[in-house]
Amino acid sequence: MEDYLNSKGLCHVCRQETTTIHAEIGPGQQVYVCEKCLETAKLNFIWICAHCGSVYIRPKSLVIKRLTDPGLKKAYQACEDLQIIQGIDMCAECDAEGIVECVAAAKGAQNRGHC
Ligand SMILES: [Zn+2]
Ligand SMILES: [Zn+2]
Repeated sequence: MEDYLNSKGLCHVCRQETTTIHAEIGPGQQVYVCEKCLETAKLNFIWICAHCGSVYIRPKSLVIKRLTDPGLKKAYQACEDLQIIQGIDMCAECDAEGIVECVAAAKGAQNRGHC
């Protein structure tokens, strides 16, 4: 376990940099994320599709602006200053609505943790 945490791996988001930084994208799911991509995560929501491994990066302001549901909008706005990288079961190609629900659910999960 220790070895794993100290090991280097290819950044899951850009697949260009090797890094020792991990991000939790879901319960028990850890991926490598380089500093550059963590920086990207400050201004963008990043989703990683658990199904096909596709990575989706969307500007937070744009995502929030497009939301019409006030509850979801609030949840997203609360996440605006966080660096969020999330695992999703399905990518936007499969189910764009699913992504929105996924973020809302993840926000609820974070409330139980350090957020
Ligand atoms: Zn990266
Ligand atoms: Zn997919």
